[in-house]
Amino acid sequence: MGHSVQILERCPISYLEPRGAGIVSGPSIDAFFSLFNSSPTPCINLTQRLYLDRLGHVIESIDRTQRTTSWGVLYATLRQLYDQPSCQCQDEICRQTARGERAAYCFGCEATSVIPLGNGAMAVEFITAQGRTETVLADLVIGADGFNSALRAGLLPEVQPAYAGYVAWRGVIPEMQLSHSIRGAYVGKMVFYQGEATQFVAYTMPGEGGSSQPGERRLNWVWYQNCGEGSDEHNATMTDTHGTLHRVTVAPGLLNRDVWDERVAISARCLPPPLGEIVKQTADPFVQKIIDVASHQATFYGGRVLLVGDAMAAPRPHTGSSTDQSAFQALKLLEVLRGKIDVTEWERKVLQHATDLLQVGVKIGADCGLGGSGLSPHPVNRLI
Ligand SMILES: Cc1cc2nc3c(=O)[nH]c(=O)nc-3n(C[C@H](O)[C@H](O)[C@H](O)COP(=O)(O)OP(=O)(O)OC[C@H]3O[C@@H](n4cnc5c(N)ncnc54)[C@H](O)[C@@H]3O)c2cc1C
Repeated sequence: MGHSVQILERCPISYLEPRGAGIVSGPSIDAFFSLFNSSPTPCINLTQRLYLDRLGHVIESIDRTQRTTSWGVLYATLRQLYDQPSCQCQDEICRQTARGERAAYCFGCEATSVIPLGNGAMAVEFITAQGRTETVLADLVIGADGFNSALRAGLLPEVQPAYAGYVAWRGVIPEMQLSHSIRGAYVGKMVFYQGEATQFVAYTMPGEGGSSQPGERRLNWVWYQNCGEGSDEHNATMTDTHGTLHRVTVAPGLLNRDVWDERVAISARCLPPPLGEIVKQTADPFVQKIIDVASHQATFYGGRVLLVGDAMAAPRPHTGSSTDQSAFQALKLLEVLRGKIDVTEWERKVLQHATDLLQVGVKIGADCGLGGSGLSPHPVNRLI
């Protein structure tokens, strides 16, 4: 399509490190990657959902196929398309990018603002790794800078990320480190437990390098628990081994040992025994606060600037759909670039899609008794 692309990435390293998290692969992820990738994206086909009671008995089992992949697999696939000049993809956008002629990946560059120049062009201001402020001109700016988006802060200052009042403890275990009985019961399935003000979800995801071979897969788990902003528990949880208080995530390897030991003890008291065992055996757990973000606008300056992904709206992770949302937006953007829809229609579709996901995520959290006093205004109200 003849577009020249420049990616500004804040992270100063040239290849982002996966944190091992699993991703539920939805229809738009599948459609997006099949457009740009000739071989199927590595994934695990789950066949069943199991719902457990407090003692670990299966109270309901539903046959339902679902695919899972990992952040690392999706990132590696995208980078391979970008990095390899020999990419065989038939799509014109991809070939141009893959040839490396018309695309630049600029890491260590933090976008700070977008400024209209009056002639239809936009200027994006950014700070380089060396601390210089520079500007790049663009016909189209796509703001994909995450839930704490600097571009959104300039465009929609009234939209503020808000803590939902609960955290997700997370971890990944190689399947061969699970006991024989847990492996036999849970691998290849999606497992749920819902207790008092808590939810636990575990599912199988690809192993290192995207392997779906039995013996090489991993079990990904997420355990949601209330944690009041500013409480002693909150501050202890979010303070890492070096004493740094984190705003959203305490990454693998940085969780305070005492905090984690306490969490393991709570898991033994509150979770079905096999799930408590999974928590206990996790080598590199991490914790993330659940953050609500909902923009009421996604296009600016006559469609010259777009907000996408978590920068536009961040559905709660119960939906397992945030990455799928981004893929949906990208597919719709392709329709704009091909002249099939206009950017107003793009905005209408992506806002409606986000609204639906936000509602589902908030409802699941509420149904599980998660969140509570001190919550932000209902995120969905700001969209509709
Ligand atoms: C507990 C939990 C479970 C989840 N499970 C799932 C799941 O099963 N399925 C799913 O689809 N999603 C899941 N998600 C959500 C998913 O991880 C994110 O929604 C998704 O990664 C958002 O992608 P994004 O590109 O919009 O933002 P991000 O992944 O945050 O990427 C933003 C990028 O922009 C860069 N950046 C930030 N600011 C700037 C700046 N100013 N200038 C330049 N670069 C910048 C960052 O370094 C980063 O590379 C889960 C999230 C949580 C918390």
